Amino acid sequence: MNPFDFDLFVIGGGSGGVRAARMAAQRGVRVALAEAQGTEGLGGTCVNVGCIPKKLYSYAAHYAEAAHEAAGYGWEGAPPALNWQTLKTNRAAEITRLNGVYSNLLRGSGVTVFNAFASLQGGHTIGLSILNADGSTGHQQVTARHILLATGGRAHVPHFQGREHVVTSDDMFDLPAFPQRLVVVGGGYIACEFASIFNGLGAKVTQLYRGEQILRGFDQEVRHFLANEMTKAGVDLRLQAGVLAVERQPDGLHVKLEDGNALVADTVLYATGRVPNVDGLGLSATGVAQGAQGAVLVNDQYQTNLPHVFAVGDVTARVQLTPVALGEAMVVVDHLFGPAAGKPHRQMAYDCIPTAVFTHPNVGTVGLTEAQAREQFGHVTVFRSEFRSLKHTLSGSTERTLMKLLVDTATDRVVGLHMVGAEAGEIVQGFAVAMKAGATKAVFDSTLGIHPTAAEEFVTMRDPVKPN
Ligand code: FAD
Ligand code: NDP
Repeated sequence: MNPFDFDLFVIGGGSGGVRAARMAAQRGVRVALAEAQGTEGLGGTCVNVGCIPKKLYSYAAHYAEAAHEAAGYGWEGAPPALNWQTLKTNRAAEITRLNGVYSNLLRGSGVTVFNAFASLQGGHTIGLSILNADGSTGHQQVTARHILLATGGRAHVPHFQGREHVVTSDDMFDLPAFPQRLVVVGGGYIACEFASIFNGLGAKVTQLYRGEQILRGFDQEVRHFLANEMTKAGVDLRLQAGVLAVERQPDGLHVKLEDGNALVADTVLYATGRVPNVDGLGLSATGVAQGAQGAVLVNDQYQTNLPHVFAVGDVTARVQLTPVALGEAMVVVDHLFGPAAGKPHRQMAYDCIPTAVFTHPNVGTVGLTEAQAREQFGHVTVFRSEFRSLKHTLSGSTERTLMKLLVDTATDRVVGLHMVGAEAGEIVQGFAVAMKAGATKAVFDSTLGIHPTAAEEFVTMRDPVKPN
């Protein structure tokens, strides 16, 4: 007889947790999942306050651009005005629909779903603080052969005077009133995306970044190019800018800067990184090893120092992207219960992760930056193209597009591909397949373009700008 209530207990119903629970249940084992936010939390950060609502608001902002640019194409009439309440209502309805889809997928796969905050109690026992439908709470303990921690992360706001007046990205989607004056602090993915999106939606946006250029870790040229495009689009981007204090005054929030200047805003968004969600999880009491900011430490199989406890996704604070959490979850399931019929064991590779920053314009990137490529290969041939897209010949927009290919000179392999421009995320996804397959520049050159597109530029760049 099986001594455990479940073969796998998943804590957290976000990207990694839902994928692991579903895939494991499809292998015929007994699976349960606890989600602290109940059914409304299913889908986790990505669905509720991350990728999906963010992309919907990005689309909303693109309509404003399109309306503005349409005049050059002969469209007449006043540009339409944003109804913030309608956008919020429609977004909320779509997210509720997705929560329901996730719930049905889990239950349809045979996963037992607890609307509960879960914690490790030692051994194979999990404690559940259950939120009942009538609002009452209850407690229960269950046991599982294997436990997967997939509790994600949450926004981190540093300590400073007036911290209580600022919001995080979680709050931005449902602000009661549209923030006409928005200050964004940070220079990473979230800060850049929200600065761009709210600028596009019509806010007056000031972005404050403490360093010398936004998007640290991205290709230098991409960083500078994007900063220039965002500035041209209307974002007041201030580099090497630090905040001393935020004060609430009758005319708005006063943001006092280290250089002595001050700004007045309706909303101050702090997008200064995310930390693992480990509070109350029982990690230290049960001896699960943790790293910086409480991140759960795992080996190549996502196993913690306790052999029956695994962790994937943002709670491990490695690469904080939804497809990474999904990929890691599937590796764990294959490891514990074997691969799906007829499929090989899945592996995760972290060397060629494509990613996009949904700024306006987008950044799309896969592989190495120029600096990384030079460090790794020594001799690198750089191909680069910068242009105004065909669309903007009539639109009146001054937006420009950057494309860059980095080639390991010795092997001719393309080791880095970067784009700043419309739909860069969509375009780079396809090229990521070529890069995973080890495509050489000669393969790019022998590929015919699709004309007229911006993407064809990636297969028509003939002359290196830096040949060595
Ligand atoms: P999560 O999705 O965060 O899920 C964790 C779940 O665990 C949550 O639902 C939480 O309520 C639950 N939980 C926590 N503790 C407990 C507990 N003790 N008991 C029960 N349940 C618990 N990534 C992309 O790839 N593309 C994007 O465009 C993108 N945009 C983003 C935009 C924003 C604003 C943010 C914040 C993130 C974005 N991300 C994006 C990152 C992406 O959302 C995360 O990497 C991804 O959601 C991580 O998945 P996860 O399963 O690790 O955790
Ligand atoms: P990031 O780590 O990307 O960026 C954090 C930013 O805040 C950096 O610019 C950092 O500066 C700055 N910062 C950190 N601490 C402070 C401080 N004390 N004072 C001032 N500035 C500070 O985190 P995000 O919050 O933007 O996003 C978290 C993660 O979510 C991302 O890394 C990404 O993995 C994921 N994400 C993915 C998206 C996508 O795929 N499109 C979209 C949104 C999020 P510095 O660089 O100097 O350290």
